[in-house]
Amino acid sequence: MKKGCNFSLHEAWRAFILHSPIVPWSNVVWFPRQIPKHSFCLWLTFRDGHKTLNKLHRWGVVQSVCCAFGCGQKESIDHLFFACPFTTTIWNHFLAKCGFRRCSGGWSVESAWCIQRLQGNSFKSWITKLTLTAVMYQCWMERNNHFFQNSFRNCDSLIESVALDIEGKCRGLIRVADNPTNSELFFNWNLPTSLLSVGASMPAGYSWSLQ
Ligand SMILES: [Zn+2]
Repeated sequence: MKKGCNFSLHEAWRAFILHSPIVPWSNVVWFPRQIPKHSFCLWLTFRDGHKTLNKLHRWGVVQSVCCAFGCGQKESIDHLFFACPFTTTIWNHFLAKCGFRRCSGGWSVESAWCIQRLQGNSFKSWITKLTLTAVMYQCWMERNNHFFQNSFRNCDSLIESVALDIEGKCRGLIRVADNPTNSELFFNWNLPTSLLSVGASMPAGYSWSLQ
């Protein structure tokens, strides 16, 4: 600290922490009003941290690499998110609901798409990131339940769980910019149009109650 300057806890913290380059996917994983356990699942995916069957087989831990969702293909991150017919059905359903007319690929395709398309602060970007993290979390938990609890849910049941997660989070919104894109999203998600505000001055996705 320079002589004569006031002590700042912020500056002291910055002096001690390691400075690493910001990864291109940081805004996709960490954003306002995220659901932390969902974002953590996406963070693990970008870090290649999930113990998928292809890895466990390589390490000699398991014999079978068959996907939990009964498609007959080999389980890997690329397959789970979202090349598997089961998870693809769920993600494609929500891609359409978020206003994207495209079909998903494996994680190598989806991760590049997310980094390119979900960087902004718009309401569309926010709700798509929130949905992506919820879909990944619910699919990963369902995969674990197959293996460890012997319990099975169908696509419709998972779609319902994801929709409940998103709708619950949207209840905290206080105002969103009224434009054609957001109006379409509100219609798709059946959100109350009273939240749409012509005079919203802040970026749409960030105009909410923080309570
Ligand atoms: Zn599969």
